Amino acid sequence: MPDIKAGRLDGGSLSDNFSDMLPGFARNEARVAAERCLFCHDAPCVKACPTSIDIPLFIRQIAAQNPIGAARTILDQNIMGAMCARVCPTENLCEGVCVREVSEGKAIEIGRLQRYATDAAFDAGRQFYSAGASTGRSVAVVGAGPAGLACAHKLATLGHAVTVFEARDKAGGLNEFGIAAYKATHDIAQREVDYIMAVGNITIEHGKRLGRDITVAGLRREFDAVFLAMGLGETNDLGLGDEPAGVLDAVDYIAALRQAPDKAALPVGRRVVVIGGGMTAIDIATQTRKLGAAEVTIVYRRGKEQMSASPYEQDVAQTHGVTIRHWMRPVRLHAQAGALSGVDLEYTRLEEGKLVGTGEIVTMPCDQVFKAIGQVFVPADIADAGAGITMQSGRILIDAERRTSWAGVWAGGDCVAGGQDLTVTAVEDGKQAALSIDRTLRGTAAQAAE
Ligand code: SF4
Repeated sequence: MPDIKAGRLDGGSLSDNFSDMLPGFARNEARVAAERCLFCHDAPCVKACPTSIDIPLFIRQIAAQNPIGAARTILDQNIMGAMCARVCPTENLCEGVCVREVSEGKAIEIGRLQRYATDAAFDAGRQFYSAGASTGRSVAVVGAGPAGLACAHKLATLGHAVTVFEARDKAGGLNEFGIAAYKATHDIAQREVDYIMAVGNITIEHGKRLGRDITVAGLRREFDAVFLAMGLGETNDLGLGDEPAGVLDAVDYIAALRQAPDKAALPVGRRVVVIGGGMTAIDIATQTRKLGAAEVTIVYRRGKEQMSASPYEQDVAQTHGVTIRHWMRPVRLHAQAGALSGVDLEYTRLEEGKLVGTGEIVTMPCDQVFKAIGQVFVPADIADAGAGITMQSGRILIDAERRTSWAGVWAGGDCVAGGQDLTVTAVEDGKQAALSIDRTLRGTAAQAAE
């Protein structure tokens, strides 16, 4: 019978397993790391940062023993710099193009330095921002995730009154519900939300879901502008028919793990199979190992290079004892008395660029299967917009200023076409949308006064 149970490990082991994986720098470590920076004139790291943080400047400030100034440099560009320091795939962004990486194979530890600076500002209670002089204009933001909160914060500093509508009872979105617990220790996601809210002139209305409690048309009537920043609503299915007990949505489990006051209460299988090749697959696989699963296997239908999880993240999972099997896909679930007992996996290969099954099948006995094969946006949520909002590939189409096709409605984050499901790109969307909304509202205000 399936072996799924809570409390595989004692409290002490769980506490160790879910502690900070890469603790912050001590003061001297930060100075030594900062002094390796070449302070490049045309710094490639800045160009690789979606929020264009002046990286050489903040590193120079750390080297000069001014971490609070460094935090200001970071937060001016990216108000979620503390979480991004922990969850950005830096090896694919700033650190991947760092001159030290290219010349010596060892990048400046930009992420850890960014964490050092932002932690210093939070620990010192340094608030750099306040609400701007009132413009008399109001903006509705849908979704209190990274895009929505970044937009709200920027708008508030520019003097606009912001109301954020959030379906859940807690703000933070991806940062609060979608990131592995060991990457967001010390309640950093909520500390960041508190820092953003402390600016003032932002109200969050919880329990308000677009399409159920509010509509785009209604918000458009009530507010001067609307920013849509919803997350993705549903997880893709395996397409294998009825799923027996033991087949779970990885996104839901990761959220439950983040919110669980006692991680020992979460049931976990002895043998776990994870289907997928992205960050969600890595996060659920690593965390089920940390909860005490004896065998955890990630199954991905293509090769190592095609996995959207970075090589660093793949290494993290493997270091924690996770096995990654490439070129395999699930084709059948086995059950005993309605509970999962195994999964048939078919080997795959590319034929003329197309992924095909080879017909060779192996059965992997398991107690739990986690689906981590991507999420989809639910367009029904904006159905009231009718033809007013143009979609592309199932998500909202926006222009460079994050304007949708409906005048007065902007969008950003996961719900837009081309969204990368990253905190840092969502923050940039929110920031750019806020600047565009501000320009538009001020233009409108100037015309009204004429
Ligand atoms: Fe410093 Fe590397 Fe950026 Fe150059 S590329 S400024 S060495 S972090």
